[in-house]
Amino acid sequence: MKNIAVIGSGTMGNGIAHVFAQYGFQVKLVDISEQALQKALATIGKNMERQVSKGTLTAEDATQAISRITTQTSIDAGLSQCDLVVEAASENEKIKFDIFRQLDQVCQPSCILASNTSSISITRIAAETGRPDKVIGMHFMNPVPVMKLVEIINGYSTSAETSASIASLSKQLEKIPVVVNDYPGFVANKILMPMINEAIITLHEGVAGVEEIDTVMKLGMAHPMGPLQLADFIGLDVCLSILRVLQDGFGNPKYAPSPLLVNMVTAKQLGVKSGIGFYDYSEGVKSAKVAASFL
Ligand code: NAD
Repeated sequence: MKNIAVIGSGTMGNGIAHVFAQYGFQVKLVDISEQALQKALATIGKNMERQVSKGTLTAEDATQAISRITTQTSIDAGLSQCDLVVEAASENEKIKFDIFRQLDQVCQPSCILASNTSSISITRIAAETGRPDKVIGMHFMNPVPVMKLVEIINGYSTSAETSASIASLSKQLEKIPVVVNDYPGFVANKILMPMINEAIITLHEGVAGVEEIDTVMKLGMAHPMGPLQLADFIGLDVCLSILRVLQDGFGNPKYAPSPLLVNMVTAKQLGVKSGIGFYDYSEGVKSAKVAASFL
């Protein structure tokens, strides 16, 4: 594989483009928003500069990597030479189904179509295309250039060849692939989201405050970040939508989202991206002032 396209240039898309370009792939970065593309290029440049200052990348390699990335605002025949497309557009079924239908039309038959979705069924995405054997989940973790895991999700029709080829490609990026099957939340979010939800329920029940809950999990379980801070980092809206997928997918009330989480999302207190969540980020750094006083 040489030519890669990344669809969506937000938080995850820019990180995925960064890593592929760093490891020598030609990358076409596609987003409907020109502004998002410019922001992504600036972020990639800044993150590569950080790698150069740490000595993990040379300045020349960084310049070459950036020159391997081109941008465009639509899915068109320019993607016909791609060997792989990784979709990292907004977490919305309709958006993803439309993108995969378009990709199926413009990409060569041998091209693998991967999705970085956190929770949408790979089997359902694959069913929108005429090549379900070549559709797979390639779930990178945030921040992509730093995190080692790639959760590879085999849909019901994904072929063994497609799965093996994406696992081997992940190793070329110096990532560690773990192959799992397509069920709601896959592995990462099936386990992580109930833990985050339980932390929010614990807060809502008044068992302990935000900092106390996070400190118990950080120091007691050696987690690098407490579950409430992690929820702010992921985005409370994203957490809520994944919990809904688990609840609907398994039909089990144990996945029902905490009413406090629902209230916070309704009030647009989404965590880091909105400046306030369980913590207050309005001063640019995480402050101890806890936002969740509505208990
Ligand atoms: P984001 O909101 O930061 O970026 C999404 C981008 O997609 C935006 O720039 C938007 O303009 C673009 N987009 C929307 N519709 C498009 C279309 N039709 N064609 C091209 N671009 C389009 O979102 P994100 O956090 O980067 O998440 C992207 C995907 O990665 C989602 O599926 C999400 O579930 C998954 N994911 C996110 C994280 C995380 O921590 N943020 C971690 C793992 C996986």
